[in-house]
Amino acid sequence: MLEKLAGLDKEAQAIIAALNTIEELNEYKVKMLGRKGEITALLRGLKDLSPEQRAEVGKAANEIKDKLEAQFNSRANEIIRRDRNIKLQQEKIDVTLPGLPMQSGSIHPLTRIRREITGIFTGMGFTVEEGPEIELDYYNFEALNVPKHHPARDMQDSFYITDEVLLRTHTSPVQVRTMEKMVPQIPVKIIVPGTVYRNDDDATHSPMFHQVEGLLIDERITFADLKGILMQFARKMFGADLDVRYRPSFFPFTEPSVEIDISCVMCGGQGCRVCSHTGWLEILGAGMVHPNVLKYGGYDPEKVTGFAFGMGIERIAMLKYGINDLRLFFDNDKRFLEQF
Ligand SMILES: [Zn+2]
Repeated sequence: MLEKLAGLDKEAQAIIAALNTIEELNEYKVKMLGRKGEITALLRGLKDLSPEQRAEVGKAANEIKDKLEAQFNSRANEIIRRDRNIKLQQEKIDVTLPGLPMQSGSIHPLTRIRREITGIFTGMGFTVEEGPEIELDYYNFEALNVPKHHPARDMQDSFYITDEVLLRTHTSPVQVRTMEKMVPQIPVKIIVPGTVYRNDDDATHSPMFHQVEGLLIDERITFADLKGILMQFARKMFGADLDVRYRPSFFPFTEPSVEIDISCVMCGGQGCRVCSHTGWLEILGAGMVHPNVLKYGGYDPEKVTGFAFGMGIERIAMLKYGINDLRLFFDNDKRFLEQF
């Protein structure tokens, strides 16, 4: 039996060295060392031997098994290395070929407009503030003079998280948050660009959109200041020759309130489809800060006054670039985005 083992060992070594693929190697390994393999079969004969012989042959058999196992592994490594070298030699890289062009991105039209709006107001001395997008009902409504069950809440279809927490429906909560932070300092002169959420979804509404809020509080701020600053903004944004008009409106947090229209940027005021043949386009809402809101912020409405305004960044971008479907901003279609 020892001779037989030695014979198998010699034969196996020669075969392993000659095998050329991993598949062949694995197949042969099973044939030799597997449960139905030749060495295993040979070892079954051990039971017919005397105990001394059994020990001797068993030991020899185990040594051979270990040796073959090691040989299988080293031959497998050799084959893997060889295959990799062949592959590397075949895949010659020509470093003189021109490279693939890098795809460079561009600034999103909404980012561009937000920066433009922010730039105009910081140029007039406003500073930029931010606030949380997950907001307390208190700041989103109550401190803005919209108590619970006030019908004005219906104007803003809201995403509530709990009874007291919601996704902010406008950037206006940052008004009172900033007042609380700054009181009693004046002036409060801020703009608040940010993301807001409402349960609306069509060609001119998205459940997620962007606003810029503005607030100026100081001694003796009047409606004339509101008109002057917002006129300045509209002309810087859309062109020096346009007309601006103020229409009475209602917001719970300003009194009096106005909507501000500019003469249509498409037809110059002649009337067209974009302006519904009125010659005017609404760009933002504004008004004098309601005394109750000043009080919520900690300021005395007998000593200071202020004005506030809010505009949709998407709306400004649509008017400025002549875009008729708001959803294009969020589709991430490069054919659209590349145009800006
Ligand atoms: Zn028009």
